[in-house]
Amino acid sequence: MERHKNFISFEGIDFSGKSTQIQLLLEKLNQYGIAPILLREPGGTVISEKIRDILLSPVHREMTEKTEILLYSAARAQLVHQEMIPLLKQGKYIIADRFYDSTTAYQGYGRGLDLEVVRTLNRFATSGLTPYRTFYIDILPEEAAKRKSSRGGEQDRLESGGLDFFERIREGFLNLCNKEPQRFIRIDGNRNRMEIAEIIWQEIMKIWSIRLEDFRTNK
Ligand code: ADP
Repeated sequence: MERHKNFISFEGIDFSGKSTQIQLLLEKLNQYGIAPILLREPGGTVISEKIRDILLSPVHREMTEKTEILLYSAARAQLVHQEMIPLLKQGKYIIADRFYDSTTAYQGYGRGLDLEVVRTLNRFATSGLTPYRTFYIDILPEEAAKRKSSRGGEQDRLESGGLDFFERIREGFLNLCNKEPQRFIRIDGNRNRMEIAEIIWQEIMKIWSIRLEDFRTNK
């Protein structure tokens, strides 16, 4: 499996606005009779959700970087082979809230693991399955911190990383955008949420061949 047209992903640091945009997109797609399957990483299968609990638990402070990347990859391997590949074979649409680019950005650039190893693991876990388009929502870690503090509540294990950790992650995402400009769409996350939604919608209409005329005549 390589880049698959029915599969798109959202990337960005936490609080960049991914969930907000995914919800807006789902509402819009529903109006056009398209009901994609939404997957969040890590998770999406019973096994992957259990791995998610281990990964995000704030009490697992002793987790090493290698354990972390292997657990993310394990959760993803299960999701890809149990759910995603069968769904795509049935012609379903999939929207992923994070995919292997997050591993490259967080474990590769953020934690400093060898990028070649990260790439190999990503390919191994996914058998090469790649999103057709990846919407990267770009905000500064300072802005993320502001949004986080206005939300309040407890931090998970990854959220507790320092500002420099998130700066490296952001650099990682920006590098990925430069390396794969045909796949990544970088969006300024400081823009108004409806403006961002419109940029995403224009792109989705193109790649999924959604035509407003068809919708009007069907009504
Ligand atoms: P993520 O899923 O990337 O963690 P969310 O969609 O949950 O991000 O958004 C994080 C916070 O930022 C929420 O409080 C949300 O209301 C706010 N937010 C989302 N989009 C924007 C935007 N374009 N401008 C300002 N704040 C936003």
